[in-house]
Amino acid sequence: MIRYHAAWILPISEPPIRDGWVAVDRGRVVAYGALGPAGRHGLADGAREVDLGHVAVLPGLVNAHTHLELSYLRDEVPPSSEFVTWIRAVIAARRQRPDPSGPEIVGAVERALEETVKYGTAVIGDISNTLVSFGPLMRTSLAGVLFYELIRFNTSDPVGVVEEASRRIAALPPTERVRTSLAAHAPYSVAPLVLRAIRQAVDRHPFAPCSIHLSESEEEVEFIRSGAGPWRVLLEEIGSWDPAWVPPGVTPVQFLADSGFLDARVLAVHGVQMTSADLERLAALGTTVVACPRSNGHTGAGAPPIEDFYKSGVRVAVGTDSLASAPDLNVFAEVATMRALAPTVPAAALLDSATRQGARALGFDADYGTIEPGKVARLLAIAIPGSRIDVEEYLVSGVEPDQIRWIDDI
Ligand SMILES: [Zn+2]
Repeated sequence: MIRYHAAWILPISEPPIRDGWVAVDRGRVVAYGALGPAGRHGLADGAREVDLGHVAVLPGLVNAHTHLELSYLRDEVPPSSEFVTWIRAVIAARRQRPDPSGPEIVGAVERALEETVKYGTAVIGDISNTLVSFGPLMRTSLAGVLFYELIRFNTSDPVGVVEEASRRIAALPPTERVRTSLAAHAPYSVAPLVLRAIRQAVDRHPFAPCSIHLSESEEEVEFIRSGAGPWRVLLEEIGSWDPAWVPPGVTPVQFLADSGFLDARVLAVHGVQMTSADLERLAALGTTVVACPRSNGHTGAGAPPIEDFYKSGVRVAVGTDSLASAPDLNVFAEVATMRALAPTVPAAALLDSATRQGARALGFDADYGTIEPGKVARLLAIAIPGSRIDVEEYLVSGVEPDQIRWIDDI
């Protein structure tokens, strides 16, 4: 057993402990607490004592939404002021490299995974249209869910499309650390009957989460309300428009809630355009909103209403989105952007989102997300300037990669 001493321990499940310790045995947390007045823990159990010094120890972070397979598009898709213009640029860029398992794409996935671990992430929610990231993900120390994402607006066989997808992920055997599930791309790009079939397939697995991009752009809101606008034009251009589709005439959240798609299993990603009524509905359903504000700025979707998220009581997790729309996969940097957009949200709530809420949404909260006895000791030691700081505020204000270490590497 090793007992790590640190200036701060952040269990997340309770307030930070100044001058604390955490004991780890065979990769699991055994106990934690505060040092007594003489700087001692009062335990004589033969544990090796390791003083980490001026660091804050906290659980490994959770990046609840990314697309590793798009990592080769880093710096390739310039920022846009209009979301559909940005989507057009991504479609064009992906068409230039049609082989999804080519060495350039796999190499970029592997580098992105290295970066993910280096930046302090322990659990990942990865969206994939090709499943190319499954092998590389299995070879890392990360836990996570690989979501096989469907984009299909016009199909004569919605059930067959989803059955084929289910067969493909069933061929990838899950482990303790890496699981698979299905995701729908968005309410404007997946037909209502495909959405229904995805939910039915997900419901057959007792603990599988599901994911969808939701209320990301004004163009999405317009399309779901009226069936018109730039998204309709794009669907027609790419031959995916379905003339039998009837516009729901409501907000994207209300449409999916009325369809029975949303509940506590679902990660609703982005939420830039969500109204207060939308957020209250999601809070009541137990759905988790995943904030990716740096991506939203890059794609022209706009700034998400982070303060409204927290005011509504909805569960909030954090995602970087892909390297096509974010500069890096640093969840600390994503959280710092959330802090800048939402100065009144308590720092503790932002840290909870980046750890416990993400782990819970992805179904990994039995092992990750907090420091508690029995959980996996995938713990970070973040260098801090001293113990007399507001440690939570410090951690949400931007942590540089060279401050981040895993305690098992020390
Ligand atoms: Zn995404």
